[in-house]
Amino acid sequence: MQKIGFIGLGIMGSHMAANLVRAGYDVTGFDVVPAGVEKLLQAGGKPAPTIAEAVAGAEVVITMLPDSPQVAEVVLGLGGVFESATAGVLLIDMSSIAPETSIEVARAGTALGVRVLDAPVSGGEQGAIKASLSIMVGGAAEDFEAARPIFEDLGRTIVHVGGHGAGQTVKAANQLMVAGIISLVSEAIVLLEASGVDGQRGLEVLAGGLAGNRILDLKAESMLGRQFEPGFRIDLHHKDMGIALASGRAAGVALPVTGVVAQLVASARAQGYGSLDHSALLKVIEQLSGRLEA
Ligand code: NAD
Repeated sequence: MQKIGFIGLGIMGSHMAANLVRAGYDVTGFDVVPAGVEKLLQAGGKPAPTIAEAVAGAEVVITMLPDSPQVAEVVLGLGGVFESATAGVLLIDMSSIAPETSIEVARAGTALGVRVLDAPVSGGEQGAIKASLSIMVGGAAEDFEAARPIFEDLGRTIVHVGGHGAGQTVKAANQLMVAGIISLVSEAIVLLEASGVDGQRGLEVLAGGLAGNRILDLKAESMLGRQFEPGFRIDLHHKDMGIALASGRAAGVALPVTGVVAQLVASARAQGYGSLDHSALLKVIEQLSGRLEA
């Protein structure tokens, strides 16, 4: 499988598509925003003016879009992927969306002879740049094996977690953990600073003990410096917390901490921080204690 159509060339997709070009694939890409297509062109890929032209002749189509409505529109909609994809094509949706939408897309694909995998990722923009993403894959085992070489050019930890939609459920679990950990790192920063303890030294020692985690490793410095360039936008994390809560409801389980953290993310968004990195949850935690500087 050498010819790939790539739809959604944003913060993540542009780097992932560039890595596939570098790995030797023939990549044709489409995005509604010209900047993404321009990045693909610079990386050595081919721009397509429509979804149909990105999909024409492709053996594999990858989508990396914001949310369920965009995936439904791009794949199932008028002029979408399934209008042009021929039987045998493999559609790999790497967006983080609701598991039900992944299942709906897979059902529609099966009816057309198109194979479908949901394969959301974790690792952020740096993971996309360095091809070190974690990739959680739902779908048929043989389709996973067929796609494995592509996944290996995009990530490092690649696991087939179950049937259609299972990748999205694992991603929801990932997102509730990430938002929860960012909230706790924020509380640690607020406590240290309010107590007159140097935040940098405090977090340095925390990172070496049982409290050590990837958020501390990757974001302690930018959080202490109040740098909130995305990265992963609050708006997208708000979407993911909704998916996590809905998935918990569908599974009939209580996720109490997720509920509280989802409200903190909602507050961040309501206060106009939607375009900032999710580490801007620190601003919400600071505000609760009257410690947010203008
Ligand atoms: P993004 O908003 O930067 O990129 C999405 C791209 O899709 C944009 O370029 C947008 O123009 C394009 N798009 C939207 N509607 C379209 C349409 N109808 N047709 C064609 N293109 C369309 O988002 P991102 O940060 O790259 O995230 C993409 C997905 O990956 C999301 O589901 C997100 O939750 C997930 N994700 C993001 C990160 C991260 O750190 N940014 C990490 C892991 C997972």
